[in-house]
Amino acid sequence: MPLPKLALEMSKKGYTGLEFAVGIPGTVGGAVRMNAGAYGGEMQKVIISTTYMDLDGNIKTIKNEEHKFEYRKSIFTKNKYIILSTTIQLKKGNINEIEEIISKDTQSRKEKQPYNMPSAGSTFKRKEGIITAKLIDEAGLKGYSIGDAIVSEKHAGFIVNKGNATAQNVLDLIKHVQNEVYNKFNQKIELEIEIMGEE
Ligand SMILES: Cc1cc2nc3c(=O)[nH]c(=O)nc-3n(C[C@H](O)[C@H](O)[C@H](O)COP(=O)(O)OP(=O)(O)OC[C@H]3O[C@@H](n4cnc5c(N)ncnc54)[C@H](O)[C@@H]3O)c2cc1C
Repeated sequence: MPLPKLALEMSKKGYTGLEFAVGIPGTVGGAVRMNAGAYGGEMQKVIISTTYMDLDGNIKTIKNEEHKFEYRKSIFTKNKYIILSTTIQLKKGNINEIEEIISKDTQSRKEKQPYNMPSAGSTFKRKEGIITAKLIDEAGLKGYSIGDAIVSEKHAGFIVNKGNATAQNVLDLIKHVQNEVYNKFNQKIELEIEIMGEE
């Protein structure tokens, strides 16, 4: 189930709680694993329970607190479990108010994020009390590119593809950004995206 589709369907029916998810691309399974969130909302806040299968084929259901949700983390980021289904609880709301929240969030994303270019979303994690994108910007890295991978001019927290960026271009640019921010501000910045396959 695509997460934005679910969020829109629930909103149209007048249920509130999933408005934040309308602009998050991906599936419900991916969103549970990553504890996806935006604009003050998070999967953690709406999930009641999740059913998964472990690698021995055992099927288990866990309650919200057993997910061990953290910022973009859950027990599913540490274990190779397959999420089969999740139960969420929303509240009955006012359709006009729900639509207003969705349109405000969508507008904000379009204004602040590089939605017109391909990316994997926010490349770096926010740090407690520090806006990572601001550090990258202040390090003078907006618009810095390696091959066709470029630090977005619109939002320094995103690495976007301006044409034919390779995975290696993106990995090299990530390293460069991390090194520059560390050298200039003595701050280590972590990845929000996951690197899969061969590095
Ligand atoms: C333009 C853009 C904007 C984004 N904005 C946001 C945002 O605002 N907030 C946010 O939180 N994220 C954001 N993201 C990141 C991403 O969309 C979310 O993390 C999303 O929830 C990932 O879901 P997915 O189905 O695409 O998972 P994938 O990226 O395909 O997978 C993520 C991980 O989950 C695993 N996985 C997927 N399905 C299951 C399953 N059923 N069982 C077990 N493991 C599974 C995968 O193996 C992988 O390790 C953005 C991404 C882009 C490209």
